[in-house]
Amino acid sequence: MVSEELTTLEQLQTNLLESYQEEFPNDEPTICAFAPGRVNLIGEHVDYVDGFVFPMAIPLGTMIIGKALDDSITNTCYIRTLSKDVGEPKSIEIDLTKEISPLKSPKWANYVVGVLALFLERMKPTKKQPFRILIATTVPIGGGLSSSASIEVAMCTFLELLYKKSLTNGQQLSKVDKALLCCKAEQVYANVPCGIMDQYTACMAEANHALLIDCRDNTSKSIPMTNKEVCVLVTNSNVKHELVAGTYAERVRHCQEAADILGHKKLREVTSIKELENVRDKMSPVIYKRAHHAITEIKRTEAGAKALSNNDYTEFGRLMYESHESLRDDFEVSCEELDQLVSLARSVDGVYGSRMTGGGFGGCTVTLVAKSSVDKCIETIKKGYKATASFYQFVPSDGARAIDLKKHQ
Ligand code: ADP
Ligand code: MG
Repeated sequence: MVSEELTTLEQLQTNLLESYQEEFPNDEPTICAFAPGRVNLIGEHVDYVDGFVFPMAIPLGTMIIGKALDDSITNTCYIRTLSKDVGEPKSIEIDLTKEISPLKSPKWANYVVGVLALFLERMKPTKKQPFRILIATTVPIGGGLSSSASIEVAMCTFLELLYKKSLTNGQQLSKVDKALLCCKAEQVYANVPCGIMDQYTACMAEANHALLIDCRDNTSKSIPMTNKEVCVLVTNSNVKHELVAGTYAERVRHCQEAADILGHKKLREVTSIKELENVRDKMSPVIYKRAHHAITEIKRTEAGAKALSNNDYTEFGRLMYESHESLRDDFEVSCEELDQLVSLARSVDGVYGSRMTGGGFGGCTVTLVAKSSVDKCIETIKKGYKATASFYQFVPSDGARAIDLKKHQ
């Protein structure tokens, strides 16, 4: 087997149930919520400029199991992650009688606590319900497949199920509002100035479809991806260059600076590259390059969705290569490893296109490849890549949902 065997939801639930039994013998959880990670096919670093993005949900994700606790006995929520790849401690307690503020540590907990705080603020339940939960994920953490949105949206789904009976119909969150709430949790509690793409995908995605999202008005269109002869191959570079922490926020600022010079709220409003050229002498070369990426990437994404709707994989692949080059040269968020993975993929017959995906500086590439050439592509990358990569073949998956709990024997 050359690509990773995917952990099934059933296996993930079994692991969680075993941990739950160990920690709370003779007790059973009653709720199980799941939300997927995502891979972005094209449209990188443009959600926060109100652009178009074109991701799909993946069959990896975050699962949360747990139950309500008796509020005549406790006011405290217990939250534990099984993830080895986040900092200590692995569990925290939240007192519901106090205001819920961002935690200094552990950092991971803010992704969960932020959703809890904003959910309570938004839904204003008459009674705050204490609970205990365990969390586990199959999304590689910090790998560009959005473990962060996946944990946020899983948490929000858990809370919707927890409060199901006590909230009236008018109080239900729409899927878009749910995505906005989770996005705000990441911005305010985890302090990441992210756009809406990841949370939107985790909430709205449909199996066998990619999602063209218009981040200006938060609407989307599902585009079928049912051709069994074509495969989405994700290659994890297994590197993450930490020295560039803070660069994401810097890129967000650069794009806003460019929009301000152009006299627009966001770069999405720019109608042509000529408009940018007209003010080129008013901006630094760096700001020009950032804007050039964003404006051309938005156009590529619209064109890409059209190409895929027409089953034109050659055109979609060409746009993927262009996107990578723009991210490398104009946006400067690629790195040697990602560039190498893309050029190795490009050397293989049957590969339509390949590009870095996610924030950059490591993480993953996404490659569109004929099914008959996947093994050859993996083999070529394994042979030529300077580090050790891992490979996933993904079909587009469904968004967040409740999962039935198996009875534990
Ligand atoms: P990505 O979303 O690409 O995986 P991010 O840096 O945006 O990377 O988010 C990763 C962070 O999200 C982790 O460092 C951790 O704080 C939090 N996180 C994600 N999944 C989990 C999990 N299962 N348990 C605890 N924290 C998690
Ligand atoms: Mg993330």
